[in-house]
Amino acid sequence: MSRLQRKWMEYWQSLSDKLTKRTKIHLVNATISPAAFSAHHIHLKALEVLSKLTQKKYNAYLVGGCIRDLLLDMTPKDFDVTTNARPEAIKPLFKCARMIGRRFRLVHVVFGRDIIEVSTFRGPPKKNKITSEKATRDQGFLIRDNVYGTIEEDALRRDFTINALYYDHQTHQVIDFSTGLQDIKNRCLKLLGDPATRYREDPVRMLRAARFAAKLDFSLDAKTEEPIKMLAPLLHQIPGTRLFDEMMKLLLYGYGEKSWSYLKYFNLLPNLLSDTIRLSEANPKVESLIILVLQSTDLRVKQNKPVTPAFILSAFFWYHVLQQYHVFKHTKPDDEAWCLAVDMVLRKQCQIFSIPKRYTCFMRDVWSLQVALIHRSDDTIMQIAGHPRFRAAYDFLLLREENGESLDSAGLWWTNYQIKNPIPSVNRFKYRKKSRHIKSKRRM
Ligand code: ATP
Ligand code: MG
Repeated sequence: MSRLQRKWMEYWQSLSDKLTKRTKIHLVNATISPAAFSAHHIHLKALEVLSKLTQKKYNAYLVGGCIRDLLLDMTPKDFDVTTNARPEAIKPLFKCARMIGRRFRLVHVVFGRDIIEVSTFRGPPKKNKITSEKATRDQGFLIRDNVYGTIEEDALRRDFTINALYYDHQTHQVIDFSTGLQDIKNRCLKLLGDPATRYREDPVRMLRAARFAAKLDFSLDAKTEEPIKMLAPLLHQIPGTRLFDEMMKLLLYGYGEKSWSYLKYFNLLPNLLSDTIRLSEANPKVESLIILVLQSTDLRVKQNKPVTPAFILSAFFWYHVLQQYHVFKHTKPDDEAWCLAVDMVLRKQCQIFSIPKRYTCFMRDVWSLQVALIHRSDDTIMQIAGHPRFRAAYDFLLLREENGESLDSAGLWWTNYQIKNPIPSVNRFKYRKKSRHIKSKRRM
């Protein structure tokens, strides 16, 4: 029996009397029938990628969050593969594969809407003077990081112990080089290595800590939690596009409200939404609107309804737009004051995280329609109801009323209007189609 097999057997044996009921059932099933674990729960395309790589005599494993989620009886968001093959060798093996990543090169194997990310085992950052000077900026942040290594070294480069698990599809073994399985059992989130150093290398790990704590309902190991408040300002080093992606992962997958609490508790919010947080200190409605929009998003996710980042962001910046509008109104005509306020808020926020234009267009429409919905006239009603963003603007209006804004019962008026005049479904279809969150994976 190999060392890995022994470790695996020991682990399963040690579990029986200590596991929580829910986890126990799942893990015991996995032991009895490892084939079920692979055949029924692992994405077929991921298995196809693994098979292709192993046919070519490379070592290849499923890695990271998908193993963690399967062990917790959750549905993985995506499946990642890691291998000892180099990106240049991986790409030609698949018809539709592309190389991505500047800090660390990866291959995305594309199967229609599904993307399987294939990474090469990473090694420790190079120690030699020239490379390390070139590859790190102030405060230990890694800029370029194309160093390959062994599977053991790769495990140490991952963020949390629970994300450093590898699944061998040929032997059906889960391989754990640290304490990942134990930490899953204890429902504990623990960063690999020295936490402060690991956050400095990549400050996004602080956001990931908040995300996994919320998503998995895990508690944070004290040493993993301790440096976050102090290091939170390092988020400014992260490119806006990556920050936006990470924010969306926190907010759009059904645990947004809980993620918000963790971001707040870790004091990460002032580095992500500085103006909104400043405003919320003086006006409690700012945060209560955010909580309402996150609650309704979480509910929609549970109901399998479409959600869009733009709707959430409309709520995040609404009171800031209003505040700026009142400032500009002193010196400018109404329409101009409104446009200046919207432009200013979006421009300032995009300096922190970049909101794609398709979303800012949506936000502008939803905000502008608020005035029209309240001050409707006989001439404009049809036009408003026919607007492609009518439904989103109406939902936003209801949210504002729920948040205690007094809007002349406009919400009720439009509810009754839609009962009497059902809005053609073509409008809703447009909204759904445009609102689909295009998942893009950007990693270091
Ligand atoms: P989910 O897919 O639910 O978002 P995940 O853990 O799979 O969670 P991914 O972003 O898909 O997250 O990344 C896959 C794996 O890559 C992680 O499990 C982890 O091992 C590694 N990883 C991702 N981001 C980092 C990071 N910033 N630092 C170190 N390792 C990382
Ligand atoms: Mg993943």
